[in-house]
Amino acid sequence: MALSDKEIREIITPLLLSGAKMLDRHCPKCGSPLFELNGRVFCPICEHRKKEDTVKLKGIEESLIEKLKLLANQLPDDVDELKKHLEVMKMIVELLERYKKMEEIR
Ligand SMILES: [Zn+2]
Repeated sequence: MALSDKEIREIITPLLLSGAKMLDRHCPKCGSPLFELNGRVFCPICEHRKKEDTVKLKGIEESLIEKLKLLANQLPDDVDELKKHLEVMKMIVELLERYKKMEEIR
């Protein structure tokens, strides 16, 4: 994945300003130059992207939970409708479990 101007501006520039050293090595994953700060070598782009993904996942998770609460509070009396309702709730729960697993892998 190529670096966008925005990523360079928002990630690389502040790093250089904070005293991080740009190394002569590149990240095998994204091709960005690796940096060293306080003896730690890292890829600022991958770290940033990982953080952004986690934030996105959290957002999805939260809206799913909201929806689940809403559905649980509005269970219909009609049996067929109720079945549909529960089916949707089951799908949401399964999705949530999948997200949890994805977070554990990180
Ligand atoms: Zn990288």
